[in-house]
Amino acid sequence: MAIEFTFTPKQQMFQRVVRNYLRLEVWPNVDEDKSGHGTFPKKTIQEMGKLGLLGIPFPKEYGGAGLGEIGYCIFVEEIGRIDASIATIVAAHQSIGTTPVWLFGTEDQRRKYLPGLTDGRHLAAFALTEPTAGSDAASIKTQARREGDYYIVNGRKLWCTNGDQADVIVLTCVTDPALGARGGVTSFILEKGTKGFSIGTIEDKMGIRNSSTAELIFEDCAIPAENVLGRVGEGFIVALTALDGGRTGLAAGSLGGAQTLLETSIDYVRSRRRHGQPLSQEQAVQWRLADMAVEINLTKYATYHTAALVDEYYHLIAGGKHVPDALRDKISMNAATIKVFASEMTARCVESALEIQGGSSIWDRNRVERAWRDHIIAEIYEGTSEIQRLIIARDVLKMGGTY
Ligand SMILES: Cc1cc2nc3c(=O)[nH]c(=O)nc-3n(C[C@H](O)[C@H](O)[C@H](O)COP(=O)(O)OP(=O)(O)OC[C@H]3O[C@@H](n4cnc5c(N)ncnc54)[C@H](O)[C@@H]3O)c2cc1C
Repeated sequence: MAIEFTFTPKQQMFQRVVRNYLRLEVWPNVDEDKSGHGTFPKKTIQEMGKLGLLGIPFPKEYGGAGLGEIGYCIFVEEIGRIDASIATIVAAHQSIGTTPVWLFGTEDQRRKYLPGLTDGRHLAAFALTEPTAGSDAASIKTQARREGDYYIVNGRKLWCTNGDQADVIVLTCVTDPALGARGGVTSFILEKGTKGFSIGTIEDKMGIRNSSTAELIFEDCAIPAENVLGRVGEGFIVALTALDGGRTGLAAGSLGGAQTLLETSIDYVRSRRRHGQPLSQEQAVQWRLADMAVEINLTKYATYHTAALVDEYYHLIAGGKHVPDALRDKISMNAATIKVFASEMTARCVESALEIQGGSSIWDRNRVERAWRDHIIAEIYEGTSEIQRLIIARDVLKMGGTY
């Protein structure tokens, strides 16, 4: 069996077009404002929507570009090269925000929500984390109690990316506390403006400042029962399935960031001279560049391999096909592996870039300073590195090795 690691001509063309667009149209406007609070890049996001860049993985029949998870990862990698805030916004929108509606929505829900989410009229978010439930997501407390044709939601969600900007939020709530996470948790499609739903604190962050991270407050918020997403009691599966694709996309964003760090380091050592020689002549510097390149190249293969697996897996789910537990486990392990490796690899590249570019790397006009603040966060959201390692360890212990 041949294993092909080359993008198809269509994927290559998509990569070229996206790279040009991002460099020419988006790159000049990605600076943070100097207040340190960040500004949500609404205009850029809307423009990306109009260009069809907010529905890349989804089937054309719902307004998507039909480019699957590989196309989606190409896009996030390219944005990760230039701006981690925008990468976070579009990744949260497409992977954890919109994907669950495609995978688990009824045909009516898909037709109602996907066209607006894929053409940029609407933005999506995903709300799972709570004040007392981060890594331990199974202990969420926000409750949805059935009353006639509605579910009445009470509780708080924390740190929801796009939370205050989103028109549609995939919300995970407890519907039967006695059953716990497996059976007692349900996902809902929450629309902006629903009575009883309000926005609390919007966080100031050390990095990805132009993305928005919001607290969501629910006080007797009535969500129509027809907005249950997937089956009642299966909300935890909805969330974990979305996170598999989400983590793969985050790996692609980290990969993009690492490539920029390598490229700016190469530019620096080519032009910086000491003792009359460019810094690039120093073997110690060359080894650092080589180590960055080794990790970037390997991450690239592993990321797109995982994207291809996720793509197959998602099409099975969307088509209503049976998905064996062993396949779910394999995908989760692959997604956890690439998420932990890519995010930590990029942190190592930041360190190398700091070493290579010396004093100039720590000023805010130099993008290494911003990369340091931006990319470290990929080790935290959508499950910390420790949680990814727990997932991987659970699987290798179960199987007595890797796949
Ligand atoms: C910028 C940003 C955006 C986010 N966006 C979203 C979003 O859109 N939607 C959403 O639902 N959530 C979002 N989150 C929340 C994010 O997913 C959580 O922060 C993350 O899951 C970790 O939870 P926690 O911060 O509460 O850490 P905690 O659970 O309090 O963990 C603290 C530390 O303990 C470690 N730890 C915890 N349990 C274990 C264990 N069993 N073994 C070993 N170590 C452990 C963790 O790895 C971590 O280092 C976002 C977070 C950030 C920072």
